[in-house]
Amino acid sequence: MHQLGKRALATSIRDPYNALISVRANPKPGNGPLAPLTWTAKDNITTTEEPTTCASAILKNYYSPFDATVVRLLNEAGATLLGKNNLDEFGMGSSNTNSAFGPVKNPLYEEFRVAGGSSGGSAAAVSGELCDFSLGTDTGGSVRQPASYCGILGFKPTYGRVSRWGVVAYAQGFDTVGILARDFAVLRRTFDVIDKYDEKDVTSMPIWIRKKFGAAFLPEKLKIGVPHEFLVGEMSEETRSEYFATLRNLQDSGHAIIPVSLPSIKKALPAYYTLVSASAASTLSRFDGVRYGVSIKPEYPETIVSTNRSKGLGIEVQRRTLLGNFTLSSESGDHFVQATKIRQSLVEEMNDVLTFPNHLLNTPENPDGVHVLVAPTAFGEAPTIEDYKSACKSSLVNGYINDIMTIPASLAGCPSISVPMRNRRYGLQVMSQYGYDHFLLKAAELIEAHR
Ligand code: GLN
Repeated sequence: MHQLGKRALATSIRDPYNALISVRANPKPGNGPLAPLTWTAKDNITTTEEPTTCASAILKNYYSPFDATVVRLLNEAGATLLGKNNLDEFGMGSSNTNSAFGPVKNPLYEEFRVAGGSSGGSAAAVSGELCDFSLGTDTGGSVRQPASYCGILGFKPTYGRVSRWGVVAYAQGFDTVGILARDFAVLRRTFDVIDKYDEKDVTSMPIWIRKKFGAAFLPEKLKIGVPHEFLVGEMSEETRSEYFATLRNLQDSGHAIIPVSLPSIKKALPAYYTLVSASAASTLSRFDGVRYGVSIKPEYPETIVSTNRSKGLGIEVQRRTLLGNFTLSSESGDHFVQATKIRQSLVEEMNDVLTFPNHLLNTPENPDGVHVLVAPTAFGEAPTIEDYKSACKSSLVNGYINDIMTIPASLAGCPSISVPMRNRRYGLQVMSQYGYDHFLLKAAELIEAHR
């Protein structure tokens, strides 16, 4: 791993966590509903004033000619951008150790523990109080899992609610811009600004669907579904006991805790990695040092693309590119189709257990269903960097397996938020039906009050 060093590191920001890749030279205080809040952006969200590196050596000098739509909206609302956050290269990872700019340190601990990933820099910046909120991206858990490790809120809205225009793609059918914050008030104000239709993003949720969700009212008695598939053997005792304590408190206050089953959760992990690797192999092919990125002049010109990509892309990105290209090849059989079917089954199972209709698929309301689903966000607290690295060394799968907790909401495209439990080192995840983001935020706030 090469350390590339920081740019324009203003003396006014102390960053003991390596949460920032660049710092804005002259942050301007804004005017508007979000003033005087300060924020940072994951470095796969384009800004014109600083490079957008995606924590990759191949993009270390890349300047975007435009700001992402979310950056423009936040600017117009008066929020002040302070800098760009470290991440796992192109969003691939769960620990922020796959970065050309070095790993991020978790602010909750004295010793070096990982901040989670891939939006580890965003989570550390918010948890370490370098800014009021941060925007990350969540493809399979990258906002929720680092939020859980760093003791803050991490919200992945419904797929399509927030514009992806100007956000460097990892897997286009999953990537969702999310918000990391320390409290619900800031998180909601931010969401209200970026929750907009954008004609520049072909996957932006159309206005006619947005109108269907109406105002969100919490019922007196919330019906909370507990999918047993999430209670896996790998989960730590502490996580379990924190989780059960919250469920007990909710039950004591008269809310209903209802066991439910979504069998496809068991197959979600391989389905997700099959689909996102295929997508990444395709979207990342543009980074060849010819159209985008750094070019290393090779001895033999015909090797220019392979040389640039071998030197410019990190090992995890190369691994997934190989896997994705294999999946898309005729030799791989029908992995892609099988994975797509698992995704579809999971959506159907969600529609069966949740009470709200899925307006995208025109499913009916289900009076016997639950309002939200809950689960821990991760198996345990943040591991030390040594433990994490040695676990990945003994088996690569150990780097992926934690994602089983967050991937189902990503496959379903539904909104999901991680809320710190009574012990901040653990997070509880709350999910709801497609489009019911405002309901979800209210329910999650109620659940937070019962931890
Ligand atoms: N850890 C998952 C992955 O590497 C999720 C990453 C993300 O949400 N960007 O794909």
